[in-house]
Amino acid sequence: MYLYNSATHRKEEFVPNHPDIVKMYTCGPTVYHFAHIGNLRSYIMEDVLEKFLRFEGYHVKRVMNITDVGHLSSDGDTGEDKMLKGAKRENKSVMDIARFYTDAFFSDCEKLNIKRPDVVEPATACISEYIRIISALVEKGYGYVAGGNVYFDTSKLERYYIFNDHDAEDLAVGVREGVEEDVNKRNKNDFVLWFTQSKFEDQALKWDSPWGVGYPGWHIECSGISMKHLGEDLDIHCGGIDNAFPHHTNEIAQSEAYLGHKWCNFWMHVLHLNTNSGKMSKSKGEFLTVSLLEEKGYDPLAYRFFCLQSHYRKGLVFSWENLDNAQGAYRKLVARAAALVPGDGAVDEAVVAAQRENFRKAMGNDLNTSLGITALYDVLKAEANAETKLALLGDFDQVLGLRLLEKAAQKREADAKAVSNASAAGGILITGEGDPEIDALVRRRAEAKKAKDFALADQLRAQLKDMGIEVVDTKDGAVWKRV
Ligand code: AMP
Ligand code: ZN
Repeated sequence: MYLYNSATHRKEEFVPNHPDIVKMYTCGPTVYHFAHIGNLRSYIMEDVLEKFLRFEGYHVKRVMNITDVGHLSSDGDTGEDKMLKGAKRENKSVMDIARFYTDAFFSDCEKLNIKRPDVVEPATACISEYIRIISALVEKGYGYVAGGNVYFDTSKLERYYIFNDHDAEDLAVGVREGVEEDVNKRNKNDFVLWFTQSKFEDQALKWDSPWGVGYPGWHIECSGISMKHLGEDLDIHCGGIDNAFPHHTNEIAQSEAYLGHKWCNFWMHVLHLNTNSGKMSKSKGEFLTVSLLEEKGYDPLAYRFFCLQSHYRKGLVFSWENLDNAQGAYRKLVARAAALVPGDGAVDEAVVAAQRENFRKAMGNDLNTSLGITALYDVLKAEANAETKLALLGDFDQVLGLRLLEKAAQKREADAKAVSNASAAGGILITGEGDPEIDALVRRRAEAKKAKDFALADQLRAQLKDMGIEVVDTKDGAVWKRV
């Protein structure tokens, strides 16, 4: 499989460091507020990557941090601690805030069918790890103490800008706003490894360290947690594009200075979800959440479908209209899966092999999820029995995560219930994919029949046939399907 590597600015064949395992690290959420659906775009795409790696037969160990300390309101070590800000806003303790929003994050993930990483580690659980790494960095001359804080000296590196020296645009897209100068820094890009001093109200959680009581900088947590669980090398590191600079750049600086060798091979960055008024941002306070989508009647998986329709390396514009379209298409897809009724035929292995190849080719080309979705439609259109189609849909959906077969079963059950209800009520029942236009035509035809206007009924049946719709009359009502 080929993946675009932000570190080399090229699509490269993915080959893991160790043949038996892929080590994958994902920057986790800062748990001071709900995740917005922009954040979740990144987690959906990272989930697809993990699932596709597994689909390709790799064993994956995936680690994610939970930032519950040390992330200041700018990514460049200035401002208040985000967690403290959240605690003040809600009049709760920092730990209560962390617990509440961590649970909320995983509940959103569950609704979006995002698998929980194998290891989820809160930043506050690994303080000794960071102290060990920072001590070694100071000893090696990469770390210095100034104004009570420990800084990383970026001038000691041969190359600091990993992601943006080839392409200045990467930095422009990625950089987070609001970076101020810190007079303790020897060089503009130096960053804090350990804080004991802040000009803002102090962090609530503090630990003893060789440099005084304080707390870790944000960047060190990902290096520490990754090394704790995945050792000294990493295959893939992921995050949203705003993580590329300074967060990932600093992670690489400190990790490689500490290890004395290359740390991570592939860097994957997901472009942002934007609204027409710009980037969605947690710190601005106003944002769209999964709960809000649900309140407005959307299935969270329709949002997942919406994300998969576009490529992760392109910005995605959110609008309600776009989401409506995605939800309509998703519902139709589920209905088409629900219309596949298995008989007692065998799965056609030749069709499976050909269709699988089609899907692997799409996804293996830097996770082309929109072509991955097209592969689902190709299966539905294929010359094959329902058993074969269901097997393939289930197979591809292990990666796409749209819960297609589960939703199809639910739809069949709901339709069956509707049939028996309508039959009990003696009414006209229409079942099909849930397309309002077709439902209306089928209903008009049923009413025409009931009124013994057979000419109109036949005319409507012909009209539907021209649209590729077959109507079957059952004792309970009309059932339509695409042919
Ligand atoms: P945070 O909780 O702010 O640390 O962000 C969690 C993840 O969401 C990080 O990987 C960010 O890069 C990513 N992210 C932030 N904003 C967006 C956005 N608008 N679209 C996509 N990903 C985002
Ligand atoms: Zn990180």
